[in-house]
This record gives sequence, structure tokens and C-alpha cells, in this order.
Amino acid sequence: MPTPVSHLEPTRPSGAMRALAPLSPDPRKAWSWLQRSWLGRYGVALLFFCFALLLQLELWPLMSNSPFLFFYGAVMVAGWWGGWGPSLLVTTLSLVAVDHYFLPPRLTLQMRSADVLALGIFALLAIFITKLNVSLSRALEERASLLEREHQARAASEAARTRLHTIFMQAPAQIFFLRGAAHDFDFSNARNSSMLKSRDTLGKPFQSGVVKVGEEDARDVLDRVYTTGEPFVSGAVPLRFLQADGMEKETFHNLVYQPTRDAQGQVDGIAGFGFDVTDLVHARQRAEALATELRQAEFRTRVLAEVSTVLASSLDYEGTMRNLARLVVPALADWCFVDLAQPDGTFHRLEVAHARPEDAPVAAEVLHFNLMPEGNPRHPPTAALLRGEAILLEEMTPAHIKRSAHNENHARVMLATGLRSFIAVPLVVRGHTMGVFSFFTSFSNRRYTQADLAFGLELAYRAALSMENARLYREAQEAIRLRDEFLSIASHELKTPLTPLSLKLQALSRELERHPDNIPYALVKGYVDTGARQVKKLAELVGDLLDVSRIAAGRLALELEDVDLGALIHEVASRYEAHAARSGSSLQVEGGEAGLVGRWDRLRLEQVVTNLIDNAVKYGAGKPIVLSLEQGPSRARLKVRDQGIGIAPEHLPRLFGRFERAVSERHYGGLGLGLYITRTLVEAMGGRVRVESEQGRGSIFTVDLPRERVVPVDVSASQPQ
Ligand code: ADP
Repeated sequence: MPTPVSHLEPTRPSGAMRALAPLSPDPRKAWSWLQRSWLGRYGVALLFFCFALLLQLELWPLMSNSPFLFFYGAVMVAGWWGGWGPSLLVTTLSLVAVDHYFLPPRLTLQMRSADVLALGIFALLAIFITKLNVSLSRALEERASLLEREHQARAASEAARTRLHTIFMQAPAQIFFLRGAAHDFDFSNARNSSMLKSRDTLGKPFQSGVVKVGEEDARDVLDRVYTTGEPFVSGAVPLRFLQADGMEKETFHNLVYQPTRDAQGQVDGIAGFGFDVTDLVHARQRAEALATELRQAEFRTRVLAEVSTVLASSLDYEGTMRNLARLVVPALADWCFVDLAQPDGTFHRLEVAHARPEDAPVAAEVLHFNLMPEGNPRHPPTAALLRGEAILLEEMTPAHIKRSAHNENHARVMLATGLRSFIAVPLVVRGHTMGVFSFFTSFSNRRYTQADLAFGLELAYRAALSMENARLYREAQEAIRLRDEFLSIASHELKTPLTPLSLKLQALSRELERHPDNIPYALVKGYVDTGARQVKKLAELVGDLLDVSRIAAGRLALELEDVDLGALIHEVASRYEAHAARSGSSLQVEGGEAGLVGRWDRLRLEQVVTNLIDNAVKYGAGKPIVLSLEQGPSRARLKVRDQGIGIAPEHLPRLFGRFERAVSERHYGGLGLGLYITRTLVEAMGGRVRVESEQGRGSIFTVDLPRERVVPVDVSASQPQ
């Protein structure tokens, strides 16, 4: 079994010990010197010889039968301590000493034959003892040397472990070792513990700290490494872990989870190494985001340039808006809608552009869902229209789409588009909303940002400006066309009364020449009346033209007085009876006898009634005309009803505008100013005029007037309807 790394405890001498070390004598060195040096070996041998001699001399009286006893000891020690040399020396000296001191004759060196044998045996035993001792000594020496080497090896291995421990602890990476199938921490270096904000990780399972490795549960990853024995290696992988304070945190790491094995080769744990590359990943993400932003900004600029070209290419703004939608898709969006305001105030979905051809059926359905300003303010393009400001919805969920749809079918279709990120921008110029431009992403999965919104605003501004320019251009063209038409009609209309007038004047002149003294009264009167009617007609035409220029200049002043409307109607009707009769129509007045008095401008009111009766006669097809007056407490109502040619419904909304006509000039003369002036005058007096008509069945013009007029009206501000 390999030693678990956690057992690698540093074995360092304490500071005090290290300080004392150089001063203290090393007893082992002295001992070794005594054993190894020549002086030490022989000195110790001689010392023990002397000691044995002294003991032998001292104890001789007690043990005279054993002259060799202590010398054996000396030989033994000399052999054990000093080896052969000192032992032989001590043996020799012992032989001499025994012979001299202890064998008779004592204190001589003479030997008896019996002593020779004893000395010989001593010598032999001494040699034998020496041999044994030398061998023993060598064996001990070898053992000591082995022990020493083992000691050194242990110390070296201890130092290596300490070094390794220090390296692991101080490594600039997370290092940890897990033990067993439960993946309990066996070792966690400083960096790993500090990442988990816990010092107390040992013995706890890894997955109680690290929850997720990338998209996987940490436990699954570790189980895989443990069971397969295959290492897990991954770069810049997001690591979600639980800190000691209970907070979850995500950082990025280069990871290696390596299986560790026991002596039998079985996986018994996991060694983990992690390098925190969060800063690097964030820096790279920032750089990538910047690069993307830069690319997109460049791209948007290019698209805007193309947009400008498209917008400048045509004055047909509907066609232009269609082209614009197709330019935005797929460059910046997967889908694009254009909703345009209609003259009647509703909105019409003009275009639905889509990037993928297979979305065509869905696009055809989307085309039918118009904006609903009064029905669904939650619908994002409608909301942009109502608020008059751009809307960015970075992430639209299906629930959000369902909530903002007009109905279930709309929700189904919008979900089918795959709508994800959405921008809607109203098309506004000079406070006038012309529509809404919406674009969104779906399958491309892009999320719009504020930069895209700014782009949308710029695009919508340019588009609205171009639409406004096209509208102004069209209006200018129309104004020029109307002016030319008006000039031709006006000259024709002014000329029409002039011809009979000049004919009557010529006839009158002829009659006067023919009958200088006897002027035929009736004939002349007839010519003069006809001439006067033509002059009146001319005066009316010129009067209308003057009124129009007064209205345009805001110089139409009203002179209010008490006017009896019933009397005024009867008066005008009786004045027009002959004229109506000439056309085959009768004029009948109903009501108004009871004196319907109000504060009005008499002449202008007369002009209003005249215009309406004049038209009723002109377009009345010779059928009866009825004028009816109704009286309310504060209002008066006049209705002029004819049974003439009537008006087609498509002309009705514009008839009260300047120069507007619904008949051809070949069949009916007129400048198209009567109703315009009528409306302006009625509104100036605080009232309203309207028409109901059916083609071929006649028309009813209704004028409602308040009887008290207090607030003066700026008639120049009045626009054609
Ligand atoms: P005009 O000089 O052409 O009569 P008006 O402003 O009085 O100009 O009328 C505008 C147009 O309204 C006319 O050209 C005609 O087409 C239509 N109109 C006005 N009154 C009647 C009416 N009573 N019946 C049918 N059409 C009418």
C-alpha cells in the first residue's frame, strides 16, 4: 500500500535545536574515532589488558588456579574492539604476563613443559575468541552501518516528503486527493481549500463542495473516473461550487482528475489538479464580446449605408419599406414586420420578411395580424406605437408571447415564428406616427442589445424621414396638379358667364341702335336681367376665390349678431325658387316659423345656405328639394335634402376639402370650393356640417349650429377633411 500523502508530515528540527547543533560534541563521532583509529584500537586493547592484569594481580590469592581468567576478558574486548592486531598484542602480552607473574617460577620468564601446554591452549583459545569477536564486531559494524544508512534514507525520504508537501501546499493550483468511492478529501492544498472558502475539508466528500463540473454533476464525473480508471481532462470548464458561507459560485478551471491506484493496481482514489483560469476566460469573453460588437457595429454601419441607398432610390414608400424589411432580414434579424398607418386611422401590415424560405406559410399567417391600438396594448409593436417609443425585449419567453398576443391563434402563429429577441420602433416624423417597424430573431438565437436598439431607432428615423419626404413630394405633386386643374377650371368657370353676358350686351347694343327713340322695354329688361345674373355668378365665383385666400391667410372675420335663421332660410329659398324652377326642381321649407334666433354672422350664414341650396339645385336632377329646420334649446339644425345624383361613398370623406369634387367638369361646372367654404364658415361659428348620400338617390347635408358662439375660431387652422 502506498503511503497516503496526508501522512507526509514535515519533520523539521525546532528553531532552538537548530541553533544549538554546531556547539554540542557529537558522541557518535568520538565513539567512531575510538573504534576506527589505530591509537583508539590499540589504546583500548592495552587499557583492558592493564585492567585485566590489575584484576588478576589483585584477585590472585583468591583464584590462583585461574591465571588466564581476566586475560580472556581482555583478549575478548581487544578482539571485539580493535580487531586482530590489538587482540594478538593483548594475547602476546597476556602470555608474557601470565608466564611472568602467575606461573611458577613466578617473576621469571622460564617455562615449565606443563605450562607450555597451558599457554598454548590459552593462545589457541585467544585466537579463537579473537576470531569470534572480530566476526561479531564486523557484523555489528555492518549492522550499525546498515542502520545508519537506513536512518539516512529515512531522513532523506522524510525531507523529500516535506518538500513535496510544501510544494503541493504552496502550488499555484488547486491540488487535492480523494480517497475511496465516496470521494472523501484526503488532502486539499491551500489554494483548493481557499477556493472552497473552507479549511475543514479533510474527510468530507468532494461533491459537498463542488456541485457541478461543466454541465455534469461533480459526483458523476468522479464516479466515472473512479470506475473506469480513465482520467478526466478538460480546459476552461465552468466549476460551480458551494462555499463555506453557503453561497454558490462559478469559476473556470483547467482540470485533471487522475485516478490513483493501490499496490494491486486497483483504483483507490482520485488526484485532482485545477488551474483557475476565470480571469483568462473572462478576459477572453470580454475580448470576444468586443470583437463581436465591433463586427456588428461595422456591419450595422454597412447596412445603414445600404438602407440610405434603398430609401433614396424611390418615392414609392410602400415599395421602399418592403425593400427595407428585406434588407434587415437576414442581415440583422430573422423576421421583420412593417405596419403602416392608414388614412382612416387603422394600421395595415404591409410586409413580413423572413430569413428562411420554409417559414413562408407562417409569414403568410403573420401578415394578417394588424396592430390593435384599442384592442391589445400588450402587443409589443402596438405598445411601441402607443408609447411613441422604441421597445427592446431582449428575451421573450413563450409565456410572454402568449400574454402579448391578440388571441390564441395569434399566439400560436407567433410561437411558430420561434420569436426570441424583439425590437419595435415607431416610425415618427414631426410628431406624426406613420407606422411601426419591428424586427426579431428566432433560429439564429441572437439576443438584441442596446446597440441594436440604437440601430433600430436610426433605421426607423431614416425610413420615417424618407416616407415623410415621399409624402410631401406626393402632396406637392398633388398640389401642383390641383393648381393646374383649378386654373383650367377657374378660367373656364370665369369665362362661362362672360360669353352670355357679352352676347346679351351686343344684343342690347343692337336693339338700342335699332330703336333709338322707342326702346322695347320688355326685351331690354330681359337682356339686362340675364346680364345681371351672369355678373352675379361672376361676382360669386370671385367672392369664393377671395374667401379661400382669406381663409388661407386667416383673415376671415365674423360679425356676430342676432339672426333669425327661419326668416333667413325662407328669404334665401324664395330668392332661389326661380333658379330652382329653371332646373325643374321645387324648393320646400319645413319648420323654422317660430323664430329660431342665434348669435351668427348673417352674411356668412346666408352664404352657407346659398351654397347648399345651390348644390342641391345643381346636382338635384330636377327633383324636389326640401329644407328643414329643427330647433334645440342650444342648437339649431338645418337639413338640405335633394333626390339628385348622390355621391359615391369613396368621395364622401374628402368632399369638404379645398378644390375637391366628385363629378366631372364636363358635366358640371364648379370650382370645388363651395363645400370647403361652407365647412370653414360653419366651424368658425362653432358648428359642424356633414353629408349622408347614396349614389343616384340623393344627398342630405346637415348643419348643426350652436345658438351662442363665444370662443372665436382661427379659421386658417381648419384643415380639409
Ligand atoms: P362645386 O363647385 O364643384 O359644386 P362644391 O364644393 O360645392 O363645389 O361641391 C364639391 C363637390 O361635391 C361637387 O363637385 C359635387 O361633386 C359634390 N356635391 C356637392 N353637393 C352635392 C349634392 N347636393 N349632390 C351631389 N353631389 C354634390
